[in-house]
Amino acid sequence: IQQILLVRRPKGMPVEEDFKFDQAPMPKPVLNEVLLKTLYVSVDPYMRGRMSDRKSYVPPFQLDEVIKGGVISEVIASQTPEFSEGDLVIGNLGWRTYQTAHEDELRKIDEKLAPITTHLGVLGMPGLTAYFGLLDIGQPKVNETVVVSGAAGAVGSVVGQIAKIKGARAVGIAGTQEKLDFLKNDLGFDEAINYKDGDFYEQLKQTCPNGVDVYYDNVGGEVSDAVLRMINHGARIPLCGQISLYNLEKPDIGPRVQSQLLINSALMKGFIVSDYAKEFQEAEQILAKWVQDGKIKYRETIVEGFDNIIQAFLGLFEGDNIGKYLVKIADQ
Ligand code: NDP
Repeated sequence: IQQILLVRRPKGMPVEEDFKFDQAPMPKPVLNEVLLKTLYVSVDPYMRGRMSDRKSYVPPFQLDEVIKGGVISEVIASQTPEFSEGDLVIGNLGWRTYQTAHEDELRKIDEKLAPITTHLGVLGMPGLTAYFGLLDIGQPKVNETVVVSGAAGAVGSVVGQIAKIKGARAVGIAGTQEKLDFLKNDLGFDEAINYKDGDFYEQLKQTCPNGVDVYYDNVGGEVSDAVLRMINHGARIPLCGQISLYNLEKPDIGPRVQSQLLINSALMKGFIVSDYAKEFQEAEQILAKWVQDGKIKYRETIVEGFDNIIQAFLGLFEGDNIGKYLVKIADQ
């Protein structure tokens, strides 16, 4: 079998040499375990944090160990009554073509309810992140202006559509014209602007004539500096991600935003999706209904082949994906 190890802690943007493609013998499941064939691997920005040796909400990956993340697999042998051959499961699993896992690490997924890949995207962790960050912290109201950065990605694309469901105006920020077109034409965002344009701040002012009531922040850095200059009294700012900073070696120094929060009585609150674990089931059902009803549309960027996992992961930081970024490893 093939597997990918982290062999060096990346400095700045990770490079291929930080990882090692490795071979291992086919593992055998023991009691209460299953043998799994990997079908899809999810690449996610938060995994960059785990590659560094810094305190965070999840412990760092250990060197010379297999990288773990969101994976969908098929059970091909079982030593537990909980799972049978042919079951499809999701879990926090290794970047491996085959592996064993304990029954407690896995959740069964029903391929009749929705395409299986949605469990890593719109109906999975990224969709839940959009849902709780926006609704619990952002609390968008009818006719308010919701701005979301990283808007064409897995989380951001759902944020803007939930804002629309709640009757707010959705303004998306993304990095290519193709993404802007996708946000406006396919997802129904009211406006979409490119943060790489020289007159980005002018465009922001034009597209948010009534200021910003909710800023859902996925990227941080200069994009957020610009949006925070535009917040209204009582604005809410769910702090979801800071992808523009993940590969910096030194802390970024920017304008101090605290005074903007102070003079506007605004709320900025960080959160981790697992804070809401008790409410996941209910939220999954609501998201599934919205997808069924066509109120939430989604796209996935799927590349094929175990050998392409690292390239896909690095591509997150180059904006290669529209919607959830996945790697297909094998057919069912
Ligand atoms: P995405 O699908 O949004 O992929 C990342 C996107 O970020 C890229 O496509 C790229 O799009 C954009 N990007 C990359 N570098 C930069 C940069 N320097 N400045 C601005 N944009 C950049 O990933 P996810 O939807 O999975 O994650 C989005 C954010 O949410 C991340 O910050 C992630 O860490 C965070 N997150 C937080 C969770 C939580 O529990 N708090 C849970 C899940 C995710 P573009 O072409 O527009 O630049």
